[in-house]
Amino acid sequence: MEKDCIFCRIVSGEIPSEKVYEDGTVTAFKDINPVAPVHILVIPNRHIPSLAHVQESDRELLGHLLVALTKVATSQGLDQRGYRVVVNTGQDGGQAVGHIHFHLLGGRSMAWPPG
Ligand code: 5GP
Ligand code: ZN
Repeated sequence: MEKDCIFCRIVSGEIPSEKVYEDGTVTAFKDINPVAPVHILVIPNRHIPSLAHVQESDRELLGHLLVALTKVATSQGLDQRGYRVVVNTGQDGGQAVGHIHFHLLGGRSMAWPPG
């Protein structure tokens, strides 16, 4: 728990959010500024700054997170038509919040390449 981290404070409930899934390892909640009809952030409860900070010891955690993400996608009705998962990383990746998060985007067709 990093006291200055918005997402750590969302996990703890100190900052309110619309959670759609949580267990002892990960939390999924609605993005405050959605860019698609479904826009959910899936995060590990433990503070990891970014994908670039992931270590061997995070292997099980990240597997758990992806399995949880697919469950959330299905519960949101996205599994038939599909969806996009985005992990903005660092400065060039456009990462604004320094707690690793997986954007789950769906409910519309996505363009490629991204901006
Ligand atoms: P990034 O640009 O770091 O990949 O994405 C950060 C995301 O966090 C943005 O989509 C932004 O809307 C979302 N966000 C930032 N602060 C909050 C907050 O306090 N609550 C929620 N639910 N989402 C937030
Ligand atoms: Zn954090």
